[in-house]
Amino acid sequence: MIGVLGGTFDPVHYGHLRTALEVVEHFGLSTLRLIPGNVPPHRQQPVASPQQRLAMLQLAIAHEPCLQADDRELRREGYSYSFDTLASLRQEIGQEMPLLFTLGFDAFLKFQDWHRWNEILAQTHLVVVQRPGYSLPPAGWYESRLSTDPNELCSTPAGRIYPFAVTALDISATRLRDTLRLGHNPRYLLPDSVLDYIHTHQLYCRI
Ligand code: ATP
Repeated sequence: MIGVLGGTFDPVHYGHLRTALEVVEHFGLSTLRLIPGNVPPHRQQPVASPQQRLAMLQLAIAHEPCLQADDRELRREGYSYSFDTLASLRQEIGQEMPLLFTLGFDAFLKFQDWHRWNEILAQTHLVVVQRPGYSLPPAGWYESRLSTDPNELCSTPAGRIYPFAVTALDISATRLRDTLRLGHNPRYLLPDSVLDYIHTHQLYCRI
């Protein structure tokens, strides 16, 4: 069973990293792949280049073997649709292995706008992690798919939606970029290695 966390990672921060590790531990995963998007379809385009975002991710997880950077979306032209990413992962791992796609409450609230969202649920489970400032509506389209039993996800390949309370870290890449642009110090919100990279490459400092 493997996990996936897609994102812009512009830049990667402890909100992403802590979430990834807690999903690994909770479900007993051998690996979770962090997959930076090339051209995100649902949002403003990233500030750092795809190569820079991948490099920061690699620095951030260098000492954590259960987390892996996966550059498949950066090797693809055009929009980074999760549907395509999951289809290519399925080609690698086959149809039977349970797959856990992790996303925050904020992303899940817009999930029905995603390209072929219904088919995504045929390819993977969703682990929906709490994020400060966001909550799920008590009822919704997803109710019939809700699960609170990790074993249920481990024993079927796809289709369940599992809300998961991770350590609440109110960190966002947007706020980190603003902090840097204003010349403030974002240390302790992201790994020092990533911050060193940001300073070396003078990222996020333009007004
Ligand atoms: P931005 O502020 O630029 O939108 P972000 O901080 O939301 O960036 P993304 O790379 O867009 O980061 O997020 C990738 C995934 O990680 C999304 O599913 C998002 O919900 C989740 N995520 C991001 N930050 C946190 C956090 N602090 N806690 C839990 N999940 C998070």
